[in-house]
Amino acid sequence: MRWGLIGASNIAANHMIGAIRGAGGDIRSVLSSSGARAAAYAAEHGIPRGSDDLEALLAADDLEAVYISTTNEKHFVQAMAAIAAGKHVLCEKPLAMTVGDAVTMVRAAQTAGVVFATNHHLRNAGSHLAIRAALQAGRIGDVLSVRVFHAVHLPPFLRGWRIDNPAAGGGVIPDIVVHDADTVRFHLGEDPVEVVAMSGASGMGKGVEDSCMSVWTMPSGAMVMAHESFTHAFAKTGFELHGTKGSIVARNVMTQAPVGEILLRTGSGEEALSFSDHNLYGRAVGLFNDACAGNGRPAADGIDGVKSLAVAAAVADAAATGQRTAVNYGGI
Ligand code: NDP
Repeated sequence: MRWGLIGASNIAANHMIGAIRGAGGDIRSVLSSSGARAAAYAAEHGIPRGSDDLEALLAADDLEAVYISTTNEKHFVQAMAAIAAGKHVLCEKPLAMTVGDAVTMVRAAQTAGVVFATNHHLRNAGSHLAIRAALQAGRIGDVLSVRVFHAVHLPPFLRGWRIDNPAAGGGVIPDIVVHDADTVRFHLGEDPVEVVAMSGASGMGKGVEDSCMSVWTMPSGAMVMAHESFTHAFAKTGFELHGTKGSIVARNVMTQAPVGEILLRTGSGEEALSFSDHNLYGRAVGLFNDACAGNGRPAADGIDGVKSLAVAAAVADAAATGQRTAVNYGGI
């Protein structure tokens, strides 16, 4: 498949260029807001064409798909242009700055008949696939609660717009709460009804929050507790599901790497669950390619991206107002 990269980003350089090529993709072009940066990025990554003109990029090379990884405020306009040009779109999270815009993107892709996917990598992890398999096999019974530990230490090279630019979609809520919301949705197959939350800046955020804690109520009656931060150097991540027959306690699984440990604890004792160590982004691109060929669906589609954004938006509202807040899924 012939791809264009929209955004000369770190995530593309560090994960997605390799994943796209590993799945047989031919990356023909890259877009940057700066022509010079586009040319330098193209040369560094062996991409034939660098451009600062979105319309020209979409018109050239008979592209079939684009991967959008610009800062968050640009996703909407760029995705809408790509959809209008008939391209399949793999878009980074959060899909847009508002739920309404994200819904518009999903509807436009449906009308155009193109595949539109959200790059939620965690549901591709071998660890989370193993957790979900155990859950669906009834190993822990009915889920009572979920605890998500996603407090990390943002590396220096990512401390740009994320920590000081709300207009670009900075802040830990748009950055990480969306991933946690999607992971909970992946496991439980349901979405929060209401949330309460508090957020703050504990040293890194300037004009945006760098830490957040929230509690979500689920339609089944289960409760979710989530903690996200950019400032925790030693916490490590984790994901726990507690049920009527057992608990799943996973550590170091809210990451980009295929690592971590999973413990299943039941009345019979404790058991370590094994899982595949395949590349998360490679699996996401493979499923996207299959969907573009008419087989199956992406790992996370546009509706998944709307749902995760809606939860993040509700958490942000709840933190700002101090009110228990209903999640508005924008009619999807
Ligand atoms: P970057 O800061 O690396 O890239 C975002 C934009 O910043 C680029 O498109 C580029 O603009 C500009 N930029 C990047 N590096 C430079 C530089 N050295 N000099 C000047 N401008 C620069 O962001 P990320 O890669 O961290 O994130 C991009 C998107 O991907 C976000 O939406 C984020 O939420 C998402 N993301 C998703 C992850 C996942 O696992 N799913 C992980 C990380 C990020 P231009 O293109 O105009 O040159």
